[in-house]
Amino acid sequence: MAWGTLSRIVLWWLAAMFVLSARPALAETAPIAPTCHAEGDLDTSVTEMMAEPKRWTCSPENWSISRPRAFLRFDLGQAAAPRELRFATRLTGFDAMRLTLIGIDGRSASRVVTPDDVIPATSDWVMYVDLPELQGQTAKLVLAIDNPRHTGIVSEAGLIPTQSDTASIRLELLLAGICGILCVPLTFNVAYYRVLRQRFLMWHTAAVLFMLLQTVVTTGLINRFATLTIDQLNFLSAVSWGGGVAAAALFSADFMEPDKLDRRHRRLLRGLALWIPAWTAFYLFAGGSLRPLVAPIYFASFVPVLGIFIWTMAVAKLRGSRAVNFQIAAWTPIMLAGAIRMFTSMGLTDAPMEMQLAQHISIAWEVIVASLGVADRFLVIRRERDSAKEQSRTFAQLAERDALTGLLNRRAVEDRFEELQGEGFRTMAVIDLDHFKDINDSYGHAKGDDVLQAVADALEGDDDTLSVRLGGEEFLLLLRGKNAAARAERRRKAIPARVAAKVAGIDRMVTASMGLVEHSHSNLTPADFSMLYAHCDRLLYEAKGAGRNRTMSEKLRGFDGHQQLSRTAA
Ligand code: GH3
Ligand code: MG
Ligand code: MG
Repeated sequence: MAWGTLSRIVLWWLAAMFVLSARPALAETAPIAPTCHAEGDLDTSVTEMMAEPKRWTCSPENWSISRPRAFLRFDLGQAAAPRELRFATRLTGFDAMRLTLIGIDGRSASRVVTPDDVIPATSDWVMYVDLPELQGQTAKLVLAIDNPRHTGIVSEAGLIPTQSDTASIRLELLLAGICGILCVPLTFNVAYYRVLRQRFLMWHTAAVLFMLLQTVVTTGLINRFATLTIDQLNFLSAVSWGGGVAAAALFSADFMEPDKLDRRHRRLLRGLALWIPAWTAFYLFAGGSLRPLVAPIYFASFVPVLGIFIWTMAVAKLRGSRAVNFQIAAWTPIMLAGAIRMFTSMGLTDAPMEMQLAQHISIAWEVIVASLGVADRFLVIRRERDSAKEQSRTFAQLAERDALTGLLNRRAVEDRFEELQGEGFRTMAVIDLDHFKDINDSYGHAKGDDVLQAVADALEGDDDTLSVRLGGEEFLLLLRGKNAAARAERRRKAIPARVAAKVAGIDRMVTASMGLVEHSHSNLTPADFSMLYAHCDRLLYEAKGAGRNRTMSEKLRGFDGHQQLSRTAA
């Protein structure tokens, strides 16, 4: 049932995503890229920098934030109207940003912004800064960015039309759809957890919540609903990413079948839950002379994370884990995206801007496939649990059975005596074979055993009759319902014929004597079993004395069990 619903939701979702992404309104107008970039100290002014053409790199390469002040220059053609443009770049922390527009007549206008002044985009991990106002024709735009925390702030910078963000409704719907699908596993997990208290369900829920937050934040969707500063967005993004990966590691440690990973592997995975938050804190709070290295070091800290994930999945896969197949399918895209992101930040590759969308989709993919894995594991565990229950029930039954005859043993009824009284088993009969010792003596012990099995056959229980072998050649019946005494008597009388039919070579009739007690008391204590048994035994003794092969019975009316008990005990 869970499978059907889940796969239907996934199919509908994929269809909707397909329609929405058919013509993504990603970038209708390509942004104007910076013409040149440069670096300097905090006391290097725009004027100084403009006077030194040699310090500028005028091609899209060698991006760096190693000096405290980064410069970007846009040489605007005749056609450009700065009033309809704004500066857009990767959402990144920085201290201050000075934007200077220089006119063809040499006049200039400046504007200084802090992280609190920038506008976060609602459909991407991008921030916008409005340009200053300048009368007359503009020739150049120069930016001086103080203490940026990520190279992307310069390498991903550009000028875009002011109106562009509002045109991306379709993209926003797509991103909202991704967020929506992330919510589905949450409800499933709650339902699963109510049936099976598995820890991995909690980690999966935590991972999904973090991934949801990560997606809502890094898609910019959160800026539709909340007004957050760049620092707050950065914080939420780093914490949700770190939290998501840490929860995924804890999930993995618990999710794999017990025999598919060693304790060492699981400890490594759980260790990531300490490692990642530590580097997340470093990423968010380290500064000073470390600033240019913070992002590369942070991303490098994910290399061992990726290594441990790959290693443990390979181990589980080699050991024939079923659960790991889901993890491999779920995590391959996100690990690829993560790897590219890592290497980009460490300066090893250059990631295209579309990476961001690829990452959102791989997160959604991860959540969907991991949820299918959770559903599958849930069903496997439930099946295992049910068969374990079945087995222990069988063992319990074995412990309540007599090995030779398969009848119940004394413990089985004595332990449950109170309950059985409540269920109406108020007739007790004790049956003892007559001269059984002679059978053993004449035909041997093995023949005697055959006889006992035949007797068990004759006494066989049903819904209203419990048949017990008390030991030796002594049996006990507990009966409920109509004509209980007569039914017990019929069973006793069936013994000789059954023995004759089933045991060959016995030339005499095997009979039995019986002592039977009926009572109408419904709430006896467990101790009353012995009291009733003593009654039956006395009647049996009387039957033996009266010539055997007969029954002596008694009806106890309105007796006080406790009084009887105390008399028996005395
Ligand atoms: P009574 O009519 O007075 O009951 O005479 P009895 O011979 O049946 O009574 P007694 O208690 O003297 O003998 C019971 C015999 O049952 C003794 C023992 O050898 C035999 N016996 C007890 N348990 C088993 C068993 O598991 N298998 C076999 N074959 N014999 C058993
Ligand atoms: Mg006997
Ligand atoms: Mg006996």
